[in-house]
Amino acid sequence: MSTSMKDVLDQLSSAIRDSCSQLPQNRSPAMVYALAEGAADIHDGGVLHLLPSLPPEREIACTAGCDHCCHLPVVTDSLSVLRLAHYIRSSFSPEAIATLRARIQARRAQMAPLDRSAKRRFRQACPLLQDGQCVAYDARPLICRSFNSFDAEACRQEIRETGVDYQIDGYPIPFAIGGALTRGMVEGLERAGYEDAPLDLAAALGIALARPDAAEAWLAGEDIFADAHID
Ligand code: SF4
Repeated sequence: MSTSMKDVLDQLSSAIRDSCSQLPQNRSPAMVYALAEGAADIHDGGVLHLLPSLPPEREIACTAGCDHCCHLPVVTDSLSVLRLAHYIRSSFSPEAIATLRARIQARRAQMAPLDRSAKRRFRQACPLLQDGQCVAYDARPLICRSFNSFDAEACRQEIRETGVDYQIDGYPIPFAIGGALTRGMVEGLERAGYEDAPLDLAAALGIALARPDAAEAWLAGEDIFADAHID
């Protein structure tokens, strides 16, 4: 990685870190959602900014309707989950939310008896995937924004069929930006007095949707996502 690329990643990381560290000055759900939305915007804007000077070495294979990566367990963070739950509550019908919560519940029941290794190899559609599309695409977590591949067939084989550790070759810039932003968020939240452990998306979303006061409780320091922590 060139020094200039590292500088860009450091700048993005410190921008989100500084914003997150200010949370105690405005401890509100609106600020939680704004921080997560800001991180997503920085991610997408950063990728677009770097694309012309650091283009992918091959054509990216991802297209609408290709959903192999949405069958992996998704590891995410508290801010992204709280924003996603807020987005769903604001834009889904009560029936759609009930259906989504039932899907999440079924997935959690299937995963509950699995050991750590089996959980990593678990392959099933994300509860937000419907007819090959993410129904919360605008509010999807950073990792979903980062994931890409040069070879859809490799995704199909490695993710859907092999069921073990996978190696997908893709455009590294989105992953690098996503990683830098996640690091910055964790550091900033730590400065603000919050410990943000990696979360299983489906489990954490189920928790956040079950509690209309999820953001307030998280801001008050309650470990509402304890059951969704990745071991
Ligand atoms: S949140 Fe959306 S993009 Fe991410 S895995 Fe689920 S369906 Fe796919």
